[in-house]
Order: sequence, then C-alpha cells, then structure tokens
Amino acid sequence: MERVFNFSAGPSMLPVEVLEKASKEMLCYGNSGMSVMEMSHRSNAYQEIFDKTESSLRDVINIPDNYKVLFLQGGASTQFAMVPLNLLKDGGKADYAVTGSFAKKAFSEAKRYGDVKVVGSSEDKGFTYIPEFNKEDFTKDARYFHITTNNTIYGTRYTELPDVGDVPLVADMSSNILSEEVDVTKFGIIYAGAQKNMGPAGVTTVIIREDLLGNAMSYTPSMMNYETLAKAGSMYNTPPTYSIYIAGMVFDWVKSMGGLKGMAKHNNEKAKLLYDYIDESKLFKGTANKKDRSIMNATFVLPTDDLNAKFIKEAASYGFMNIKGHRSVGGMRASIYNAMPKEGIVKLVDFMKQFEMDNK
Ligand SMILES: *Cc1c(COP(=O)(O)O)cnc(C)c1O
Repeated sequence: MERVFNFSAGPSMLPVEVLEKASKEMLCYGNSGMSVMEMSHRSNAYQEIFDKTESSLRDVINIPDNYKVLFLQGGASTQFAMVPLNLLKDGGKADYAVTGSFAKKAFSEAKRYGDVKVVGSSEDKGFTYIPEFNKEDFTKDARYFHITTNNTIYGTRYTELPDVGDVPLVADMSSNILSEEVDVTKFGIIYAGAQKNMGPAGVTTVIIREDLLGNAMSYTPSMMNYETLAKAGSMYNTPPTYSIYIAGMVFDWVKSMGGLKGMAKHNNEKAKLLYDYIDESKLFKGTANKKDRSIMNATFVLPTDDLNAKFIKEAASYGFMNIKGHRSVGGMRASIYNAMPKEGIVKLVDFMKQFEMDNK
C-alpha cells in the first residue's frame, strides 16, 4: 500500500528519508554487526550515536553551553511533575498559564508539590486563544513561570513570549519544538515529548539551564531528579536507546532542510495555504483566534456534526488520515508537523474545495 498523508497529532509523520535510513540500518548498524536496538547503552558504538544526537540537537536549536540536554523516558506528562519536584524546594512558588488541557494538567500536577497559581487562562472560551498577561498578577518570588508554547488540541500558539523579567520561563514545547527558530536563552527549561516533531514516542528531551539544577525536594525520586540524570549523562538507567537514535536522524534531517530557519519557512507556507483557504471558504471555519493560530495544528469545523463526520470519512478514503479533532473538542484538526510535505497540504486543500462544492 502507498503511504498516506498522516495528519495525526502524535505520534505523527516522520521524514521518509529517516525511515529509509533506519530500515537500511535495522539489522546491522555500521560495523557493529547488530541493530541499534540490540546495543548496550554502555557500549562505545551506542555512546557515539548518543553523543552525535545531542550535538546535532545543540547545533540545530543553538543551545548555549550553560544548558544541559537530557534524553529521558516518561513522556512530557512526567515533566509536569518533574518541573515542580526539581524547582520548588522549601515551599517555592510558581505561576502557570492555562491555555489548554496539557497546560491544565501541568498546573494540576504542580499543585501537589508547591504553591502554584494560575496567572492567565483561556478556559472561558474553550482555549481558543492565548490570554494577555498582567505583570501585576505575576508572583514576585516565583521560581518559574510555566507555559505551553503550542496547544496541540486547540490549535493555538504563543506568537510572543510573556515578559517575566528574571523569573525562569519553563516551556512545554512538545508540539512545536524544531518548527521555527527559538532563543533558548529566554528559557530556564524547555521540554518536549518526541512523538510530535522529533521522533518516535519513548524519548522526552529536556533542555535545562545549569543553575537550575540542585534545587530538588528531598523526596524527589532519583529517576526524576534532573541533577542526578544530568550527572549520569541521561544514563542513570537505560535510556530509550532506539528512539534517541531515530531522533538523532530527525535532527540531521532538520539541518539538511535549512535548520530551523528552513523549517519555519516550510511550516509557515503550509499553514498559510491551509488557513487562507479556510478563511475564504463559506463552509469551513477555523476555531482558533486568528492571531494565535498554530502553524502545527490547524483546527476547523463544518456547520454540523454530520458534515464533520462525512468530511472525516471521505478524507480518509482519499488517504488524508487522522484528521478528526481531539475527542474533547470535535471537528477537525490537521496536524502539519515538520515532516508533512507541502504536497500534503496542497492536496488536502484541493480535496476541501471539492468537498465544499459538493456540499453547498
Ligand atoms: C502530546 C503532548 C503532551 C503529552 O505528551 P506525552 O509524551 O504523551 O506525555 C504534553 N504537552 C503537549 C503540548 C503535547 O502536545
């Protein structure tokens, strides 16, 4: 069967070049005589893969030397607990922006460990926008301010970062890391599950400013202690070796596509194609506030649930898969991460136009 255009929110499409290389190396990696999956994480051959992966990511995102890069298990959701467990020692405080269900989960988890406060929320309008922040609302002695830079389910993203002064910004970038340029120095911590834009599920990347290490609560499990994990070079226990190897190839692919600058151009063009059509259409309607629209997850609806269902079904029959919106919001969501080629959007828009003609 031919490969489809997979609009899944995650796990999602990977670059074909990466899959092809992985398949070539599946049985025997280099001169090792074995698959990467079969290698000891303590072997020289694997350490080389690991080091190359880290240096490739450092190159691509331009990560300064005073930041550690960790490759961990547990998904982004484990970071919801790890962030407070590592930064809120001795009754520390933190602020949260609640802009979607992942952001809300991050806040709820942090509440278990410290004195945390919501300083901005868009829940009143179903998370369809990014709220304005008032500086006066920020907690003066907060240890960090947590944001979700792209809200995967609702299709919104920050187009500018809130000004929090010296308070470290902690960002869940699971669904937009590597999609455009980012100034790492503006953040204390960036974390992201790999399965949207970096690789297969199983590895979570954490980029953390070194001075934030060493503030963990005494009861923080060793496996959740950034300092312990950083000291062990992400190998306190067995890391997700194969996922890290694939992620390394994805980082190299991003480089070959012109790095984050090239990715941003590619992604903005794709998003524009789709949104321009949605905006001129009389049938389809975007659900996110225009100014805050995500370039990774485009959410839209048709006038009735029946039409939504019909569209999703017909789309699938033409090879546009997984375009159904999240179960909590309904409608449609086209996740158009880095690996989605422009051709996928051009063809989807053609199909949407045809659908509109047929269902006027
Ligand atoms: C997918 C996603 C998560 C959850 O990631 P897991 O790796 O499944 O824990 C968290 N935050 C955002 C923004 C996401 O898109």
